[in-house]
Amino acid sequence: MKIAWFCIPAHGHSNPTLGLVKELTNFGHDVYYFSFDLLREKIERSGATFISCDGYDIDLQDKDAADRVGKDIAFATELLVKATLALDEMVSKKVKEIEPDLIVSDSVAYWGKLTALKYDIPYVSSTTTFAFNKYSSRYLKHGPLELLKMLLSMPKINKYLQMLRDNGYPIKNIFDIVNNDNETNTIVYTSKEFQPCAETFSDKYCFIGPSIRPIENEMSKTADNTVYVSMGTVVKNQEIYVNCIKALGNTDYQVIISLGDNRIDIEDIPDNIEIYKSVDQMAVLSIADVFLTHCGMNSTSEALYYEVPLVMLPQTPEQGAVAKRVEELNAGIILKKTDENSILSTIEKIISNAEYKISASNISDSFKKSGGVSAAREYLEKVYCKQS
Ligand code: UDP
Repeated sequence: MKIAWFCIPAHGHSNPTLGLVKELTNFGHDVYYFSFDLLREKIERSGATFISCDGYDIDLQDKDAADRVGKDIAFATELLVKATLALDEMVSKKVKEIEPDLIVSDSVAYWGKLTALKYDIPYVSSTTTFAFNKYSSRYLKHGPLELLKMLLSMPKINKYLQMLRDNGYPIKNIFDIVNNDNETNTIVYTSKEFQPCAETFSDKYCFIGPSIRPIENEMSKTADNTVYVSMGTVVKNQEIYVNCIKALGNTDYQVIISLGDNRIDIEDIPDNIEIYKSVDQMAVLSIADVFLTHCGMNSTSEALYYEVPLVMLPQTPEQGAVAKRVEELNAGIILKKTDENSILSTIEKIISNAEYKISASNISDSFKKSGGVSAAREYLEKVYCKQS
């Protein structure tokens, strides 16, 4: 089977797919992965043929744009439709050469789904967040300002949609591109138990559980309780890191902080605090007792897999949905205020109450019982057999 796979230039959307891509290539399937140079090495390691989408007129790799995409749907929609137009010629040419049996595309890499529509190729959505339909999207809190911006930008979006139609893409409206619907074959990288409103999704949905990377560099545990702090790879928020250092410095906790691209100006870092630009997150989670997180889907799933309860500071509507679900299942607490006292007392509450850890372990069990990459491979093989 020949699969053309499409994704946006984000580690968070690409990482969960790579285990499945490896499984597919190990089983002799050919995967042609359309992505961006920053991900080339990882993708090639999974056995896929990498096809570069760099060098076209798209702004998706700009850090500020990436940060804004999650917060502003109007901005995101416009950017992604523009990217589809910019990639159109290259993708069309490659797809004609490859003649894929199946297109698998990240739910926000619109150009994948649209290429499938344009060339009438069977399509599977790869959804690295929760699946969102009219029920589960109630977990997403879009502010009134954001909805207004969406409304105001509709004329511009409609103009782009017309340009897509002029380029041969048969779409009626924006919902043809953005929605998760019950007719579309969809892989979701979580368990049915963790997915909100799971019962409202059809059997075309395959919930395979998160993909967990192996530990590469073990970390040593130096205290009874280890606190891990990371706001992921995209969020910019110096203040939370500074407040964590002030709140947790000179306590009995071992504190591991992954800063990403954030900078902090503190001269004397207390001895119990270890600060890194980036860590082997699986290694850290395997020794952590609590994780202060922005609730990116990957970080959340990885922590729960390791039975680590969460202190949560979501920054986007999607992260808010993840946080709401975690709190609903009692595996963490959403931080209402980010001052030093609130941080410390919330961490203490999680550590001193076993129920949070027990709930995290229950979710972890549901992940481990989901079918994983072999179930997803079998599912894709079945979709292919049904179509051919
Ligand atoms: N990550 C990592 N080391 C770090 C920080 C993050 O390996 O120091 C990985 C983390 O394991 C996860 C991904 O980066 O797989 C972050 O994805 P997530 O969806 O949580 O958040 P995003 O960065 O996309 O906002």
